[in-house]
Amino acid sequence: MAPPSAPQVDVGRYDGGLERDERKGRRTGDHPDVLNIDSAAAGASHPPTRSWRLKDFDLGKALGKGKFGRVYMARTRPPNPAYIIALKCMYKKELVEGKLEKQVRREIEIQMNLRHPHILRLHGYFHDTGRIFLMLEFAAKGEMYKYMNKVPYRRFPEKQAALYIAQMTDALAYLHSKHIIHRDIKPENLLLGIYGELKIGDFGWSVHAPGNRRTTMCGTLDYLPPEMVDCLPHGEGVDLWALGVLTYEFCEGAPPFEEIDSQQYEGAHNPYSLADTYTRISNVDLRLPDRFSPELRDLVRRLIRKEPEKRLPLKDVLRHPWIIKYDPEAYQRSSVNLSKH
Ligand code: AMP
Repeated sequence: MAPPSAPQVDVGRYDGGLERDERKGRRTGDHPDVLNIDSAAAGASHPPTRSWRLKDFDLGKALGKGKFGRVYMARTRPPNPAYIIALKCMYKKELVEGKLEKQVRREIEIQMNLRHPHILRLHGYFHDTGRIFLMLEFAAKGEMYKYMNKVPYRRFPEKQAALYIAQMTDALAYLHSKHIIHRDIKPENLLLGIYGELKIGDFGWSVHAPGNRRTTMCGTLDYLPPEMVDCLPHGEGVDLWALGVLTYEFCEGAPPFEEIDSQQYEGAHNPYSLADTYTRISNVDLRLPDRFSPELRDLVRRLIRKEPEKRLPLKDVLRHPWIIKYDPEAYQRSSVNLSKH
């Protein structure tokens, strides 16, 4: 959690959104038996935490609205030490209607067991009859996606991109060491910490993959590898492909096999339809901008490869000349024993 200087941190003004939802009946249709999960309870896949209730927090400013609830900046109240967190509230009724109970449970199980500087921590969780609450690490600089939209052409200088990619690679190596495949890497799922460091913030599509190969189609089309668009079994290699796509997008401002909605481009020349994107991915029709440095071109080409087993392993990404050029210590610093990968 945030350091104990937290009493001085301004958490902003609470807008009364949770009570407003209650008045609007958003909470009605109690589901006390659904997702009745609590990080204080024994029997979960992680050591129990102390028990938490909504009254243990001072709510602050709204950080965002998700599809199934709201996220607030919050501070734990005395007698607890003052910690700053992001408190995410989700409505059980809406999760039940969206048939998402299993996914939420899986997301919580996975995130609760992860400890890595570039993976958003889940400190604990609790529920009442109509809602579940996640106590998330507060990502002070917000969403990567929004930040990208503010920089010229949505592009980062290669140095900045290389530092992000080194952080992302380290986090993925950690996940893979725990046999977790992320499967949904994209800027929308990344947050930024207080120092502008990258944090993987969403585990909705992750799977534990102890040896078995999955065939479920999921993720965002722009980031899907050939084996997924062709509905073939897939493994950790999907994250290597997506790492290549992310590297490209950070440096170019758009993903390499971009799908453009033809309805938005009515009358205009539409370069790529959805079907074109599938074909381009399947054929690995990769066109690199001239602006990319030779080292960057080499890395992207080594990650975006048709055959998953030929994609550059994570340990070699951290020792690749493009990363070394900007972050020479990346491999040594890596918190994971990369020799296993
Ligand atoms: P979500 O429901 O996870 O999509 O979250 C909704 C919005 O809340 C996001 O788009 C972020 O802007 C914000 N948010 C979510 N989690 C955090 C966090 N841990 N720290 C800061 N902002 C967050």
